[in-house]
Amino acid sequence: MVNQYLLPPCPAPDSPDFPAEWAAGCFAALGLEGWRFGTDRATRRLGCCRPAEKRITLSRHFLAHYLSRDPELVRRTLLHELAHALAWERRRSRGHGSVWRHYCAALGIPGERATTRCEDFSPPCLPRSPRYALVHDSTGEVFRTYVSRPRRQPSRLKHCYIPGRKAETLGHLVIRTLP
Ligand SMILES: [Zn+2]
Repeated sequence: MVNQYLLPPCPAPDSPDFPAEWAAGCFAALGLEGWRFGTDRATRRLGCCRPAEKRITLSRHFLAHYLSRDPELVRRTLLHELAHALAWERRRSRGHGSVWRHYCAALGIPGERATTRCEDFSPPCLPRSPRYALVHDSTGEVFRTYVSRPRRQPSRLKHCYIPGRKAETLGHLVIRTLP
């Protein structure tokens, strides 16, 4: 039987404190000094623990998709990453071996596995957010968005227009990278 850590109560998924504030409370409760929580742009894994930077990140795409649909998955993923942080800080252990499993149990997620949260996880329904847009070069109006950079050559774009709005859009369409 593994002694369990006492963590701050997990806020409701619609609370603005979840998950960032809760993560900060967990770092404090676990004595993980200097550790910070953040988000990243990953689409092929849910969470990541970077011991060298003392940083735990969750994919912002994963959060956007799962925060309302499956907050328990978000909570478990954060605990999974906290177990990596503890395994590193206390035992200098990486990966999903016995040290990490010990800390998972101590964080209340016994039986946690690598495959559902980490590098090899590729959620089939995880939407990728658009990175590019077809916009009007002077008004900035967005007509279409794309996940990947469109193949269309900029030179050919000169001859394109939005159906029904030829006069105002012909020669004014450009592809821009979204922030
Ligand atoms: Zn992991």
